Amino acid sequence: MTTIGFIGLGIMGSPMSGHLVAAGHAVTGFDLSADSVAKLVAAGGTAAASVADAVAGAGVVITMLPNHPQVEDVVLGEGGVLELAAPGTLLIDMSTIRPETSVAVAKAAAAKGIRVLDAPVSGGEAGARQASLSIMVGGEEADFAAARPVLDAVGKTVVHVGPHGAGQVVKAANQLMVGGIYALVAEAIVLLEASGVDAKAGLDVLAGGLAANRILDLKRDSMIAREFAPGFRIDLHHKDMGIALAAARQVDVALPVTGLIAQLIAAGRAQGYGSLDHSALLKVVENLSGRA
Ligand code: NAD
Repeated sequence: MTTIGFIGLGIMGSPMSGHLVAAGHAVTGFDLSADSVAKLVAAGGTAAASVADAVAGAGVVITMLPNHPQVEDVVLGEGGVLELAAPGTLLIDMSTIRPETSVAVAKAAAAKGIRVLDAPVSGGEAGARQASLSIMVGGEEADFAAARPVLDAVGKTVVHVGPHGAGQVVKAANQLMVGGIYALVAEAIVLLEASGVDAKAGLDVLAGGLAANRILDLKRDSMIAREFAPGFRIDLHHKDMGIALAAARQVDVALPVTGLIAQLIAAGRAQGYGSLDHSALLKVVENLSGRA
């Protein structure tokens, strides 16, 4: 059993922290939202009133926050994890942020004797609820081995992909693929419906052929029914496309399709869909043809 401080109990952090409790760990959670903390308490965890409370006595600290400013605030800021955690603590940042922030956090932590892994996840809210996330981990091999029991409680495919920041680069690659597949599923639905073809029958066939993919499996029914409750918000995917394009610029490569997908997601945000699920890319594609 590990004593875990869990900071960021949102759509992902809430079910993940619940699984850690179920696996027998002592989990103390903090979030800016009192309702989110109450959910962890209902699942058998302990409430923390601050980052300091969550970190006190923890052998492992997990952060699952929206973006790099929140990670910088919670980890590097005054009264943050690095100031308060004991040397030897293992900090696992599972947020999706830019790779250079993960590298900077690891460097600052090393100066305090705190070990760090970047461990962003894929699999969405469903993966978090089912403890079947894919987790891509950057950092030292020995720290990965130490984190394994904790990561295995929330994930199914858990892979050490390289040094600090490498987990975030793999996550960026994941997000550009997911965005592109959503855009193409949306275009397929618009084409089928505009042609008077039953979209459900059409996508059922496609899901059995070479175009098969997880998004078709999990999301085709809700997309056809125009159900766009998040899930994964367009605002967060917009953030992730920025990370992907910045990572590409950093290593001097051109990702033209990624650029196009980023613009479609930006359009969704500009059209007021930022708080909808990213499957609402369908609305963006419909709007392009005046079919909303
Ligand atoms: P969310 O907005 O639902 O949850 C984030 C939580 O962090 C919120 O509850 C918020 O109150 C809390 N928070 C923000 N600032 C804080 C602070 N300073 N101190 C304490 N708590 C603070 O977001 P989410 O969907 O759970 O996503 C979290 C991360 O996981 C993001 O980086 C996202 O890109 C990534 N992610 C999300 C999904 C998904 O499907 N939702 C899938 C994979 C990865």
